[in-house]
Amino acid sequence: NKSVRIIGAGLAGSEAAWQLANAGIPVTLHEMRPNRSTDAHLTDHCAELVCSNSFRSDDHEANAVGLLHQEMREAGSLIMACADANSIPAGGALAVAREAFSEAVTEKLSSHPLIVIERGELDSLPSADEGPCLVATGPLTSEALSKSILALTGEESLAFYDAIAPIIHFDSIDMDKAWFQSRYDKKGPSGTGADYINCAMNEAEYTAFLEAMLSADKAEFKEWEKAKYFDGCLPIEVMAERGRDTPRYGPMKPVGLTNPHKPDEDPFAVVQLRQDNKLGTLFNIVGFQTKMKYGAQAEVFRMIPGLENAQFARLGGIHRNTFLNSPKLLDESLRLKSHPHLRFAGQITGCEGYVESASIGLLAGRFIAAEMHERAAVPPPETTAFGALLAHITGGHLIDSNGGKRSFQPMNINFGLFPPVEFSRRREDGSKMRGVEKQLSKKKALSKRALDDTKAWLDAIQIS
Ligand code: FAD
Repeated sequence: NKSVRIIGAGLAGSEAAWQLANAGIPVTLHEMRPNRSTDAHLTDHCAELVCSNSFRSDDHEANAVGLLHQEMREAGSLIMACADANSIPAGGALAVAREAFSEAVTEKLSSHPLIVIERGELDSLPSADEGPCLVATGPLTSEALSKSILALTGEESLAFYDAIAPIIHFDSIDMDKAWFQSRYDKKGPSGTGADYINCAMNEAEYTAFLEAMLSADKAEFKEWEKAKYFDGCLPIEVMAERGRDTPRYGPMKPVGLTNPHKPDEDPFAVVQLRQDNKLGTLFNIVGFQTKMKYGAQAEVFRMIPGLENAQFARLGGIHRNTFLNSPKLLDESLRLKSHPHLRFAGQITGCEGYVESASIGLLAGRFIAAEMHERAAVPPPETTAFGALLAHITGGHLIDSNGGKRSFQPMNINFGLFPPVEFSRRREDGSKMRGVEKQLSKKKALSKRALDDTKAWLDAIQIS
């Protein structure tokens, strides 16, 4: 059996190697550490956790990442098995003993008879003659390999920084205060002239909002993060520092919009939200990339009229992060369309987080294994957490809003990525559920459907 080459023994590469080897496929796993390290890694262990030691919520009924944990367990994930075996008390979260976790992953991979770990940086991508290859080199891909990837993808398609604006669940926006309208009623592809959600502020609200932004806790720019953030993605608070009215001439322009809730009042500033996925369940705040710390962001953005109860699918950020424009470049089984012997997995594909990266590694490993067994690589349905995340990456959710090109940005798994589900809105006594209770009923229905569909998918793709 020909061996498969994997570059990068991080969260994604380690999981992919395990899936392949357990499907009977020999693997060579190339890891540059310890010969060469990154700015964040400290050890030579496989699947090193570079920051927090938490895999976030383990609640598979009411939390999307908890659901992804469960789907990965069902699919025989190495990362989840080692996390469970090395978990430490953390309330409802799954936190792990950091060193013991990565040591366990390293030990499992090193002792597998079909896996060889080769230490050393790969500085170029292998050719098609050298067989299938999975690139899982993560957000801190080495410079030489980045150049080699860039040569295949073009400059437009490989980013070195993300610039993330917060994303909000539509059903948490107060539409008694906010309204749909495009600036000057300009008609986009939807043809309605009402593509954006608008939240108006009067002068006092604007002033208070600006002051809160300016005094909020910010994450420091790390030395290696400095560089060219400011080219096209100025953080909103940096814009506010430049002058009291700067945001009002930028993303908070009040022109071309009429608030139907207060038709006689000209807004002093307007925050706009743009649809973020085809389903219309998520909206991002336009131009609000930020370095404010997460707690501060939630507090400050809930000062925006209409967003008082906003539920965030993702908070904003700006980080050093190497990632592909995957919806354009990758097919639905993560192959580079132009060079299908190459697949990509992990954070470099545009997912975010340890668990998400490992889950995409799991899928890539299974896709390659299917092909090596001369079977089709069948993607999981979008109703599963696996499938919802994969669809985010490979473009299933991408929309063109108002004629403008939407730029692809990384994302954690969240329920906004799942297709709608039927769910019970009434209690057993027939009375109506409200607020949090109704949300929980929806999440439980989404989770149940996801786990049922994961089991069906795994049964259907079983290699016997
Ligand atoms: P990695 O785990 O980074 O693995 C990539 C591997 O490829 C590395 O081992 C690297 O050494 C190797 N490599 C790179 N180039 C080459 C080459 N040319 N040849 C051979 N090997 C190579 N996520 C969270 O969930 N929680 C957090 O708290 C968190 N904090 C983070 C903090 C920082 C500073 C960064 C950069 C990311 C953080 N993330 C966090 C995101 C997290 O890193 C990723 O989600 C996860 O590690 C990505 O998994 P991966 O397998 O794609 O990449």
